[in-house]
Formats: sequence, C-alpha cells, structure tokens
Amino acid sequence: MPTPAPTPDDFPAGDSRMAAEFRAFDWSTHVLGPTAGWPVVLRVAVNMMLASSFPQCMAWGPQRTLLYNDAYRPMLGNKPAPLGKPIDEVWAEVWPDIRPLLERAYAGEATFVEDLPLVVERHGRPEQAWFTFCYSPVRDERGQVLGMLDTALETTGKMLAEQRLTEAAASLERQVAERTADRNRLWQLSSDLMLVARLDGVVLAVNPAWTQLLGWREDETLGADVMQLVHDDDRQASLAQLQQLAQGHALHRFDNRMRHRDGSYRWISWTATPGDGALSAVGRDVTAEREQADALRRTEEMLRHSQKMEAVGQLTGGLAHDFNNLLQGITGSLQLMERLIDRGRHGELGRYITSARGAARRAATLTHRLLAFSRRQTLAPRPTDLNELVAGMEELIHRSLGPGIELQHAPAPGLWLTRVDADQLESALLNLCINARDAMPDGGRLQLTLANLQLADEAAALDLPAGDYVALSVTDTGTGMPPEVVARAFDPFFTTKPIGRGTGLGLSMVYGFARQSGGQVQIDSAPGQGTTVRILLPRSNASVAQPAPAVAASSTHAAGPKLDGQALVVEDNAEVRMLVVEALREQGLTVTAMEDGPRALGLLQTEQPFDLLVTDVGLPGGLNGRQLADAAVALRPRLRVLFITGYADNAALGAADLAAGMDVLVKPFTLEALLARVKGLLEGPTAGPPQGRARPLGGPRTQ
Ligand code: ADP
Ligand code: MG
Repeated sequence: MPTPAPTPDDFPAGDSRMAAEFRAFDWSTHVLGPTAGWPVVLRVAVNMMLASSFPQCMAWGPQRTLLYNDAYRPMLGNKPAPLGKPIDEVWAEVWPDIRPLLERAYAGEATFVEDLPLVVERHGRPEQAWFTFCYSPVRDERGQVLGMLDTALETTGKMLAEQRLTEAAASLERQVAERTADRNRLWQLSSDLMLVARLDGVVLAVNPAWTQLLGWREDETLGADVMQLVHDDDRQASLAQLQQLAQGHALHRFDNRMRHRDGSYRWISWTATPGDGALSAVGRDVTAEREQADALRRTEEMLRHSQKMEAVGQLTGGLAHDFNNLLQGITGSLQLMERLIDRGRHGELGRYITSARGAARRAATLTHRLLAFSRRQTLAPRPTDLNELVAGMEELIHRSLGPGIELQHAPAPGLWLTRVDADQLESALLNLCINARDAMPDGGRLQLTLANLQLADEAAALDLPAGDYVALSVTDTGTGMPPEVVARAFDPFFTTKPIGRGTGLGLSMVYGFARQSGGQVQIDSAPGQGTTVRILLPRSNASVAQPAPAVAASSTHAAGPKLDGQALVVEDNAEVRMLVVEALREQGLTVTAMEDGPRALGLLQTEQPFDLLVTDVGLPGGLNGRQLADAAVALRPRLRVLFITGYADNAALGAADLAAGMDVLVKPFTLEALLARVKGLLEGPTAGPPQGRARPLGGPRTQ
C-alpha cells in the first residue's frame, strides 16, 4: 500500500524550539535522509518526544543518531551542535559507561538506572554529574528494534546535597571521635577520681586515678556498690546526696571518706551531676587540706584552752586576793567594834561600821561584775529614752573625765525608745567613758552619739535578728588599739593596764550586758586613730519611756519622811526576811511576813489590806515569786510589787518588761536601796489598769 507523500514543512509538529530546529535541519545530506522518507515509527516517536516535558532523547539506526527534545538540551550544556550526530560522538567522554546499556536497548531490553554517576564534559571541563534514566527499545511494526528512547533526569543537585550532608555528618563524627579521644586522655591522665555510676551507686566506669589514689583495680570496682567504699560515719550523708542526685539535683563540694585498699581512708571532695539514668562524678583528694585544717583547729583549741586556763587562773587568783582583802576589812572592823563595845566606847563605832560597809559594798560590786559578764545578772528592761539617760549622766561623766578632756554630746531628734535596764546601761556607759579617759592621758575629746539603726541583711553578721535598734557610740581621740588587743578586749580579765589600775572586767561586762539585752557591742579602733565603741540595743515598741527606778539614796537618813502602809514580805531565808521586815517596820510600815508562796497567796485572798508585796523570786512551796505576784496583782490590781533576787532566779523572773508598779532589787542590796525602791513604788503608778492617781503618801488606804 503506497504511503501518501508527506508535506516536508509539517514535520515534526509543534512549536517547540527543537521542533523548529528539526524542521530547519538539512536532513537531505544526513544518513537518515529527508524527514519525509523516515519510517512511520520514527516520525511518531519524534513527535511524541518533542511533545514531552520530560527530558528525552533517542538514538536511531545503526549510526545511533542523536535526536532530543527541549527539556533534554540543558543536559548537553554547550556541546557543539549535537543534533543528528551519533550519540557515541556527542557523549564520547561517557560512552564506555553507557554503551552497554544502549546495546542492551538495541538488543530489545529496557533498562532503568538510578543516580548513575558520570563525569561529563559539557562546559569545556570535566564535571561530576548524576542521572536517573530509562532506555527503551523502539521497534517497527514487525517487532524489530530500530533505535532506543531515553527518558533521563539529571539528579546532580540532589546527589551533591546528599554528598554534602554525608560529608558534614562524617566530619561531625570525626570531631566527636576527636573530642572523645581528648576526653579519654583527660580520663586517663586525671589525678582526680572520675566515676560513672548508676543512680543506685553501682559503678559503671572508673578512671585509673582510683588505682593510684585508693589502690583499687578497675575490675575490683566495676559493678560494685560505691557506697561500700564510704566510711561508716559518712554513709548516711552520702546516701542522702545520692538520693538528691537521683532526683536530678547536681552536687557540689560534698566531702566524705573513701576506703583505700589498705584499709585506711582518704577524704574526697565530690562534684557530681546526674544525666541519662547515671551519674558522673569527680572526686578530689582533700585529705592533706583537711589534716592541715584539723591540726590548725587543734592548735587553736589548745591555745584557747590555755588562754581559758590562764583566765580562770587570773579569775580565781584575782578573786581570792580581792575577797580576802574585803573579808579582812569586814572581820577586822567587826573585831574592833566588839572590843569597843566591850569597853563601852560606843561613840567610836561609826568609823568601823563605815569601813566594814565599804568593804562589803566593794565585794558586792565584784560579784555583780562577774555576773554581768557571765550574762546572768538580773536585768529590769524598760522602755527607755537614751537621750534623757545620756543627758542625765553628762555631769557625772564630765566629772569622771577631768578637765583635760572635752565632752561632746548633742541629743538625737526622733530617737526611738530602747528596751533596756537603765541602771546597767548607765554603768556600761560610765565604763566606756573611763576606758576612753584612760586612753587619753594627755587630754583629748570624747564624743557620745545616738542614732536609730535599721538592720536587715547586715544583722546576721552582727549575730542579731533583723529589726530596729538604737546605737550608742562612745568615740575618743586616744591611743587606739592594735588588732590583737581589739580581738581580746572583751575577754574577762584582759587588761593592758598596770596591776591595780585595770581589772579587765569593764568591756566584758559591757559585752555580757549588751548581749543579754538582745543587743551587740562593736569596737572600731586602730593605733593612733582613737577608738569608737558602739552599743546596739533593741528598739522598744512602747510609746512612752518609763522612768528608771529611784536611785538609791546615799544614807539611811536620806530616805526622807517615814512611810505609811501595809506590806507583805515573802522570803524563805530567815536572815534576809528578818532584815527586810525590820527595815520596813523601822520606816513606819505595818509588815506581815511569810516564808512561802501558797501561804502568802492565802493571805492575799483574805480581806486584809496590803499596799506592797515584797517577795523573793525563788521560793519553796511550788509557787515562785513571779507566779505569786501575778496572782496577787490579778486579785488586787493596785498592789505594788518589789522582787528581791539573786541571779539564779533570773529565769523565773522572765524576759518580759516589768509592768509599772513592779521593780527588782538584786541581792546583795543595801537597806538604803531597799527603802528607796519601796518609796519609789509607793509613790509611783500601780501595776493594774489605771484607776485614777496613785494613793499619795500617807493618804487613806484603798485596799
Ligand atoms: P580595763 O579597763 O580594766 O583594762 P576593759 O575590759 O575595760 O578592762 O578593757 C580591756 C582593755 O581594752 C584595756 O586594758 C585596753 O587595753 C583596751 N581598751 C578598752 N577601751 C579602750 C579605749 N577606749 N582606747 C584604747 N584601748 C582601750
Ligand atoms: Mg575598763
């Protein structure tokens, strides 16, 4: 059947660039001949290829003539005019690689190759490229293979990206390997113990330092419980730390003792972190440091002990000496008085009485100072205005300082009230002023300063609770102290003054008093720079200051006019009871005496009138003086109370402020002091809620 003659201009169809090139190509001189003579199968295949958006090419006939479409062009780069040339010429550089595949297609076998790497030359230089392609045989109507069709995708971009990724991964792996090697070197080299263990303490890995430091071989420790190596006394604490780690908390500087293979122990300071179900720990041998610190501590302790012994020696020696002198004064006076009485020379007794009393008073002062520094004195803290207190002492201080020293003091406006025993503060202040005077033998200036002080974070360093304080500073322009004197200035019996001048009890007493009052004392001093001693005292929340109890009059006769009223005296010691009863009766009071609390309370529950209760604090019978007074004031709100006490009764008296209408007198006391207190109480306000003015002296009794 004759084939209709095709129109040369129609083939191939379409307006793609390659279709135009096909049409423009001079096929007449080509081995394939004019397109009109091409077999139908070729023309169909070319039309299909040119219409495809996939890159496609064909090799046709025995010469393997290369035909291709628009999408295939980029793969060829700038290879010179490849259309119509044999494929082995166009792809000469990769021909050995693709030839077998092409021959298989010509033999009738379709092939599919993925990402075949080929080094192509399409831009004037060799270039690594990858292709995924499919070679299919093209047959004529009788089944004979005339050529092949290649559908090809260049995968160079994807392959390069993959290659970069693999390289990056490989380089990371290399780096990790290098770092691991570094770490392994550290693990091997470290003189510190390194440990990886399960969170239950089972050892997973140890470094060679375990052998060097503790003598254990690696195979002896692996799989063992690390706690078995911990000293019995440290096991509890170590287990607690292990638990913390198991809960995800890191550990920093925990010290315990680890057993050496030889049975001895080394102190190890551990740092550890948990992670991934295991813990990593590094332990430093701190045995030497700890031994040094221990040795230092022992030496310090020995030094402290020997200092203490020295102080105790000073104390007992000093006390025995002082008391013997005072007792000598008293017994000597008594003996002389006895003789004078025997001879009827009563008029000469006065001198010896004065001398015995003087010695007894000095003995009392001495015991009082001892109690002050041991913080066992009886304090009667009251809301006190320090401006007033200091102003009231100015004259006394001025006289003690002498003319060569200028005294500066200005009241501080807006000063808070303090909660303090005013008597004791006066004596502390006087002590500081006398120290300042001693430090300024050639004269100088002494300044008293008062200020409010709020302590927050800095309170801890002063060993005080945070809060409000009032500071009383005593500053002098004297010799100052070197650090070693500052360090010991508060020690009892520490003095740099010649024998007979200094007792070394002044600052220790001030210190004991300030601490017992809930405050603090600080020294700021340097040689040649003068000294500031600052007393901090807690602020009082009261709104008005309470007057300090009346100061003891200097002689019995100064007690003023006789008193009137009813007093109940409760004291278990017969001598003291007799003394107090006699002294009060002598002043005109009507006195009832009792020797224990329950009986006294029984009396207070009757109708018998009382203005004043004088009671010892430590009493037999199950009711102490404080309890008795509380019960009594509850029954009789207008009753005044005077406590008489030795230091041991302190706890019973309690730390609370004394209410108005109550006062304390510390044994030993003089009869003048007793009478002054009683007078002050009877003239002052009552303990109970205010019920009008206090009864005037000698006025009608209300109870
Ligand atoms: P004493 O005054 O009996 O020596 P203290 O306890 O009052 O005992 O003082 C102890 C020591 O502290 C003094 O001996 C002195 O060395 C030193 N000291 C105290 N206050 C001052 C001061 N204001 N200036 C210089 N040194 C002082
Ligand atoms: Mg002193």
